[in-house]
Amino acid sequence: METRVRFAPSPTGALHIGGGHTALFNWLWARHTKGKFILRIEDTDRERSTQEYEETIMSGMRWLGLEWDEGPDRGGAFGPYRQSERLSMYRENAEKLVAEGKAYRDGEAIVFRVLPGVELSFDDVVYGRIETTSDGLRDRESGDLKDIVLIKSDGMPTYNYAVVIDDHFMEITHVIRGEDHISNTPKQLLLYGAFGWAPPFFAHLPMILGRDKKKLSKRHGATSVYEYRDMGYMPDSVFNFLANLGWSAGEDANGASREIFTRDEAAGFFELSRVTRKAAVFDPDKLNYISQEHLKRLDPVVRLDLIKPFWREAGLPVERHDNAYLADALTLMGGRGQTARELAGFSDYYVSFEPVKGRWNADEISDELRAGLKEFFSALLSEPEWSAEKLEARARAWVEAKGAKMKDYAMTLRFALTGMKVSPGIFEVSELLGRDEVRRRLEFYEFVPRL
Ligand code: GLU
Repeated sequence: METRVRFAPSPTGALHIGGGHTALFNWLWARHTKGKFILRIEDTDRERSTQEYEETIMSGMRWLGLEWDEGPDRGGAFGPYRQSERLSMYRENAEKLVAEGKAYRDGEAIVFRVLPGVELSFDDVVYGRIETTSDGLRDRESGDLKDIVLIKSDGMPTYNYAVVIDDHFMEITHVIRGEDHISNTPKQLLLYGAFGWAPPFFAHLPMILGRDKKKLSKRHGATSVYEYRDMGYMPDSVFNFLANLGWSAGEDANGASREIFTRDEAAGFFELSRVTRKAAVFDPDKLNYISQEHLKRLDPVVRLDLIKPFWREAGLPVERHDNAYLADALTLMGGRGQTARELAGFSDYYVSFEPVKGRWNADEISDELRAGLKEFFSALLSEPEWSAEKLEARARAWVEAKGAKMKDYAMTLRFALTGMKVSPGIFEVSELLGRDEVRRRLEFYEFVPRL
């Protein structure tokens, strides 16, 4: 039997971390089993649902690389895929239960009659056996069994009812969703039973907590998937990070845990039965680490495409340089930068001298050091072969001859070229910037006479 799973967001907000996590696990299971991933829009809350939110959720999913096989935008044999377009199905099926005496009318509403003692236990793929009966549906205060509204007086189905109709008719095999829905599952099982339908498998996903072990919320920082994009995280990194929440990809052949992986690798390794029950902690340091690892592994050309928008956003004249030079600059940055935004900031001086001037004004250079620096820089600029190796050799020979400290001189060169205290090897940076640009920067600080 082909696996069919669904992500069923309500379009009442952007795609949040929790929703992205649920969508991702559904996607993983569909891809792992070569089944189908369905997007269903649960827009029965007419006041809070908007077309705009539906679109942001879809573009958030696309950004994460979670393409679906059936959905409101692409159709499929089990549509429509928006609940607001399925109202006649909800009504027809509720009418059947009324005809069978299992539900009754209450004004305009249709209500399901809950009988005592109905067995509603199930084996959750993640949480294991959950034992309960319809007696668990009693009202806490009065102790009476509470009937379940199927269709509200405004004609809209309730969540617990619509989800059963849809999961049944869309032939969903596995319902993978947040553990906050475990408590809804018995009600849904009751309805499956009333219709005489076999329920799907249920796999509830652990909650995501902040580092303070409280439910993830705005207080913990960015909650929408798009905020992470804007901070400079790559989709592959966010995907990898979310996949590691409540699941781990096991170990490789050498016994090392597989922490960094691609989408396709994750789909290969994924096992629903290995999802943990323990709440997962959203650790921003972990995200940064994963992000840095993905950045390092990027092909230089792809990395350049990723960084350019952040340089442009900072007003840097990206178009003035050729791609080979800029890609070399990023390669020289080695593994520096945890996000695209950070790497772009750390490497701005390759694109323009302007940010360097803004960061450093040579104020702390004493007159005495300045005299030495002038000689030092003139010696460097007169090096006939402009390579990192030759420049370094010449610098070493010069400081040795003068009995000076390399640190003072190399550090000043670093500040004059980058405006920063840390950078890749400053002679490598000098080589890449080129003799003319290095001269221009040293002239600006009056370390060498203007030509
Ligand atoms: N619309 C529901 C939600 O967003 C779907 C829950 C489910 O997957 O059954 O929570």
